[in-house]
Amino acid sequence: MKEHMMKIVIVGDAAVGKTSFIHRYVSEQFSPTYKPTVGVDFLMKVLQWSDKETVRLQIWDLSGEDRFIPVNRVFYRGALGCVLMFDVTNPSSFLRCLQRKQDLDNEATLPSGAPIPCILLANKCDLPERVVTADSIAEFSKNNGFFTWMETSVRDNRNVDEAMRRLVQEILSVQPSEDQLLSSQEDSVDLQSHDATKRQSCC
Ligand code: GDP
Ligand code: MG
Repeated sequence: MKEHMMKIVIVGDAAVGKTSFIHRYVSEQFSPTYKPTVGVDFLMKVLQWSDKETVRLQIWDLSGEDRFIPVNRVFYRGALGCVLMFDVTNPSSFLRCLQRKQDLDNEATLPSGAPIPCILLANKCDLPERVVTADSIAEFSKNNGFFTWMETSVRDNRNVDEAMRRLVQEILSVQPSEDQLLSSQEDSVDLQSHDATKRQSCC
């Protein structure tokens, strides 16, 4: 059995639904009350990907608050994939995806030097107050190097598993060689050092 270890980061403005997305994906739960993420948090999920492969995902939930952006840059390192999320009812959360994508491309690259695969998620599409149009999202996604974009509703459990499946698939397809996978494992941060950093970033 081959095991792939993947560090994935989820980024986007505060309150767009990042923590809810990860909790839905990992624990199949949703809570309507909002608790801001302080600094960074992280969850694991193991997927039986095929008969011969398992994927061990380390999903890093980065705070959307501006004061944590410099800290977040450190956490981009060693990531093999990224979820960039905005809220379709909040146009500024969409506009700020540009800066976040540029930051990500500057900090996280594959061993080949190429940008890491990034999926753009248009969340809260269950809400009638939607203002960001599909056309503008598609254009932004195409112009800024996302391999795809999807509408999601974490509340209604729409496209959560599908989005993560697409991301893992893309990571595997751009990481064909065993050597590359090994070197990215070396870059991923272990739990102990993560805890130390988390304490620092919370104060
Ligand atoms: P984060 O700051 O990006 O981690 O955002 P949270 O995951 O904490 O979510 C912020 C708020 O949005 C919470 O009150 C969630 O319940 C709510 N929320 C998250 N996803 C959705 C969604 O798809 N639809 C709706 N209607 N609310 C959502
Ligand atoms: Mg959060």
